[in-house]
Amino acid sequence: MLLLFDIDGTLLITRRGGIIAMELAGRELFRPDFTVEGVEFAGRLDPLISIDVLKRNSVAQTAEHLNAFRDGYRRYLMHLLTHETDRTQALPGVHGIIPTLAKRSDVVLGLLTGNWPETGKFKLRSAGIDPDMFPLAVWGDESPHHPPAREHLPPVAMHRYTQRTGRQVARGNVVVIGDTPHDVHCAKAHGCRALGVGTGLFTPEQLMNAGADHAVASLADEEAVVKWLTTPAE
Ligand SMILES: [Mg+2]
Repeated sequence: MLLLFDIDGTLLITRRGGIIAMELAGRELFRPDFTVEGVEFAGRLDPLISIDVLKRNSVAQTAEHLNAFRDGYRRYLMHLLTHETDRTQALPGVHGIIPTLAKRSDVVLGLLTGNWPETGKFKLRSAGIDPDMFPLAVWGDESPHHPPAREHLPPVAMHRYTQRTGRQVARGNVVVIGDTPHDVHCAKAHGCRALGVGTGLFTPEQLMNAGADHAVASLADEEAVVKWLTTPAE
């Protein structure tokens, strides 16, 4: 089994820490009234969010601006999450199921996330989750196509699985675990399974309607979640 976990709203929450950090970075770098209002964040890739955020503020989306924004976001996020230590929290069940799954020989644990690697790993560490428990990770800037999309990421994960193990993984034995319809769609686009988790902005019912194979209110029922995740597709 290849299990691919989303980060925000699935493994942890930062109480809008990412959004606040982007706004502060934009105010420092570009204009004092820089705002992220009206930009969609949940389940999207950081490189796409930053293009939209610069557009929203009439800032040219040059490579120079985008690189400066990525770095400014990293600085403000690290400052915020370091100084407000209770802002980031692992969601219920996460501290139980991740170590349990990491020990199993029939599971490769992975991340499939819209986060850039430097900020994604920092969020995980801030929530007390060791990023090294996930030997396989596909980050928000690793889409091999233009324009980038979350739908491009599962094949990257499957390719890395084969590189690691020397084996192919059946699509039905790849599970994307996430809190938004974007997570569900990226799995279903490739015949993978999707577990919806209702700890973000969407309810389990909304995630089922988006096409999830199964949805739970949270990962708190550790035994049931581990069982569903580790039962191979027929
Ligand atoms: Mg998410």
